[in-house]
Amino acid sequence: CGIVGYVGSQSALDVVVAGLKRLEYRGYDSAGVAVLADGGTAAAKKAGKLANLEKELAERPLPAGSTGIGHTRWATHGPPTDANAHPHLDNTGRVAVVHNGIIENFAALRAELAERGHALTSETDTEVVAHLLAEEFSACADLAEAMRLVCRRLEGAFTLVAAHADAPDVVVGARRNSPLVVGVGEGEAFLASDVAAFIAHTRSAIELGQDQVVELRRDGVHVTGFDGLPAEVRSYHVDWDVSA
Ligand code: GLU
Repeated sequence: CGIVGYVGSQSALDVVVAGLKRLEYRGYDSAGVAVLADGGTAAAKKAGKLANLEKELAERPLPAGSTGIGHTRWATHGPPTDANAHPHLDNTGRVAVVHNGIIENFAALRAELAERGHALTSETDTEVVAHLLAEEFSACADLAEAMRLVCRRLEGAFTLVAAHADAPDVVVGARRNSPLVVGVGEGEAFLASDVAAFIAHTRSAIELGQDQVVELRRDGVHVTGFDGLPAEVRSYHVDWDVSA
C-alpha cells in the first residue's frame, strides 16, 4: 500500500527501501524494488515483511543504480506470493511498474495482450500495465507519453510508477483516485504515496492532481494531464518535524 520512486545520484535502492520503511504503517503483505542498472532493469520482490525483501537483497544483491522504484502491496487480485508482488515487468524485462489500487478493466486488457502474444505471469490486475507500457514505449520512445496513452485505457483507481531501461534517469508516475506526491530535491527527485517517504531528503513537494502524469528527471519534474496538456502544478513546503 505504499509506493516510492527515485531519480538522482544516490543509491536508488537505499533511498527506496528507506522510503518504504517510512510507509510501513500503512500495512502491506509483500514488498519489492527495481533499479535501472548496467543498461537493464533489475528487480527483487518477496511476500511478507520488508525484512524478507532485505534478506533477499543481502543474499542476491542488485547492481548499483541511481534510478529506482519500490512498492509495498496490499493484495486485491491474486494472493500475496513472490510472483504477484510488485514490481511487474513486461516480457522483455526492461519495463518495471508498481501500482496501488485496482484496474477494473484488467480482464479485457489481459485477453487483448494474450491475443497479441504477451505471456502474463502473475494473477494481478497490475501486470497488464507493464505490457501495455512496453508496447507504447516501443512506438513513441517517450515513457511519459507511453504512460499517458496507457492511463487513458485504464478504468478504476490507480497510482502507477514506472521505469524503463531504455529511458535511463527517468521515472514516471500517474494517478487517478489514489494519492501520489512528488518531492523535488537538488539534482534529484522523488515520488511517493506519502511525503513521509522522502522528507529526510527534501521538503519541497508537489501534489499530483487527478488524471495527471509526472516525469521525474534529475534536473526537474514535468507534469501533464492524461491528455498531454501542461498541468497546473501545486507546490508546497512540508514543514512537519522530521525527527519522528
Ligand atoms: N491491485 C494490485 C494488486 O493486487 C495492487 C494492490 C495494492 O494497492 O497494493 O496487486
